[in-house]
Amino acid sequence: MNEPLNAAPLIEVSGLTKAFDATQVLRGVDLTIPRGSVTGLLGKNGSGKSTLLKCLLGLLRVSSGDVRILGEDPWHLSAESKARLGYVAQEVSLYSWMRVRQIIEYTAAFYPTWNHDLTRDLLRRWEVPTEERVGPMSPGQQQKIALILALGHEPDLLILDEPVASLDPSARREFLSTLLEIMRNENRTIIFSTHITTDVERVADHVAILQEGKITWHGELGDLKDRVKRLRITSEQDLPAAFTVADSLRTEISGRHAMVAVSAVGPALIDEIESQWQASVTVEDLSLEEIFLELHGDA
Ligand code: ADP
Repeated sequence: MNEPLNAAPLIEVSGLTKAFDATQVLRGVDLTIPRGSVTGLLGKNGSGKSTLLKCLLGLLRVSSGDVRILGEDPWHLSAESKARLGYVAQEVSLYSWMRVRQIIEYTAAFYPTWNHDLTRDLLRRWEVPTEERVGPMSPGQQQKIALILALGHEPDLLILDEPVASLDPSARREFLSTLLEIMRNENRTIIFSTHITTDVERVADHVAILQEGKITWHGELGDLKDRVKRLRITSEQDLPAAFTVADSLRTEISGRHAMVAVSAVGPALIDEIESQWQASVTVEDLSLEEIFLELHGDA
């Protein structure tokens, strides 16, 4: 059967590098964002998340590599494709002298398909006062307005750079669930950057981990959690200092006991450890936070 045309990934990146003068930030990023997915781009502060998102959008020119967004080169993105994108930058900049209602009317005027019902609903749900000027509002309120502006034209692809950074935890939860509800209903695609693993766990179905300028893991969140595990090993005799396990991220040895974090657990690995070391093995699940720390060698 022929693959439907619209099943093509919305974003395809291969070998992307980006340097600012002598600072090499991205060192060969490969990433594919499937249609209809919600991907959390997870990385520490300064790891290059904003830089990557800006390269995807054609706001920064890549040093080398290939980037396709909606099937096009972002540096020469067509007006039609731009109209299918929504983007909220980390540093929100709005016309501070405008009232909320005015800024929405002003932005809506650029889009023939603006969904006024949606923006009215979001303003109400997120408790944004429409008659107040934007300038004096809190960073959290401004971030909500920027999001509403990015959603009003109902983009196919929404790119959010640390969208909830200015919100307190309960507002973050409410905001993320509303966002997800809107996007899920329409089978839209979202990529959002964050350094908060619990936000990824709460709303994303895919995760991409940016580390030392590369995507070190990308795929379904459930798959990552199925693969990365902590093994508690108890042998019949003391384990040697050189004790090691395939695909281990970190090993702690204490007499007959060892604790090993592994990146790819499977029945064959467990069998091998049990028979080679006359050991019993217990497999423990890890939270995304623990997985993130183990992958970074920071656990
Ligand atoms: P993140 O979004 O993960 O916090 P950034 O992409 O903002 O990371 O930054 C990654 C690195 O690139 C940082 O060291 C930052 O100082 C550097 N950087 C980002 N933008 C520029 C720029 N325009 N000029 C020079 N260095 C930059």
